[in-house]
Amino acid sequence: MSAIPLLKIDNLHVRFPIRAGLLQRTVGEVQAVNGVSFEVNKGEAFGIVGESGCGKTTIARAILRLVNATEGEISYNGENITAFDRHQLTPFRRKVQAIFQDPFSSLNPRKTTKDIIGEPLRVHKLAQGAGIEQRINELLELCELPARFAELYPHEMSGGQRQRVGIARALAMEPEMIVCDEAVSALDVSIQAQIINLLERLRKELGLTYVFIGHDLSVVRHLCNRVAVMYLGRIMEIADAEPLFKEPCHPYTRALLDAVPNPDPAVEAGREVEPLQGEVPNPSNPPPGCVFHTRCPVAVDQCRHSVPRLQNTAHNQAAACWLAQPSVNSSSLNKEYVNV
Ligand code: SF4
Repeated sequence: MSAIPLLKIDNLHVRFPIRAGLLQRTVGEVQAVNGVSFEVNKGEAFGIVGESGCGKTTIARAILRLVNATEGEISYNGENITAFDRHQLTPFRRKVQAIFQDPFSSLNPRKTTKDIIGEPLRVHKLAQGAGIEQRINELLELCELPARFAELYPHEMSGGQRQRVGIARALAMEPEMIVCDEAVSALDVSIQAQIINLLERLRKELGLTYVFIGHDLSVVRHLCNRVAVMYLGRIMEIADAEPLFKEPCHPYTRALLDAVPNPDPAVEAGREVEPLQGEVPNPSNPPPGCVFHTRCPVAVDQCRHSVPRLQNTAHNQAAACWLAQPSVNSSSLNKEYVNV
């Protein structure tokens, strides 16, 4: 692994103004992302999970520079991309591609697959003449689509096939990193598995790095080697995937995992699950103290007024909870993870 992380998010804040009245005066703000820090190394698949409104998609959009950071820094290969101008963004956007949830709306309905995949090849001069068609066929094969799909329009394909075209289009740019924003959420479970397996194979074969945004823990567990769990704009827990799923430290992570049904109906029938009570609070008016305290089944008085910092609870595992046991070896505390 290289010494510099491919992606480094340092104390990222993204706030959106709330405007009202005839003059559209600012009357408040939504804290979509509140002091988030993490690193992604080359070749990793980094997952960000949480309920809707937790800020995970805003992070994806900030990485892609589709929204601006209000505070903090996003570095790619050691360069601060939050300060990039239009000219610097062009090569960056070639290296960092995106796959979105709804391939139907992200593919032009009036264009065939070969036009959709061929466009970035032509615009960025990545292939020329007969080489364009050859490269389109290579990309279709890479995404396990027969060559005849080159002539089809988006409406002539299934959701899974359209998502494969979306992936092929992203790969046409020869990216280093792909931000997958709920990339399989709209698909049937069996198709989801096929796309996840495809993404996993492509990561290994092409040395890609993923930031994978999702709400389905079983999908994230399958694909990602490191995971951040978010709630109301903050990271609640961040860890390697295995310890996070086997021994979660944060009550919110435990609640999310409890909500995943067991695939064995007999086990599922005997399982006692206490679903999370209440709703996610309004991000324009987050609760004081630990933002999760209004729903936390084990909250104590301290949680209502003091914000817990992310602290290491084990090697490569950190949680923002007053009740999480800190790692005995204080030298292993990772200061990158402080997100108050
Ligand atoms: Fe629950 Fe308190 Fe931990 Fe927050 S800090 S997760 S409220 S126990």
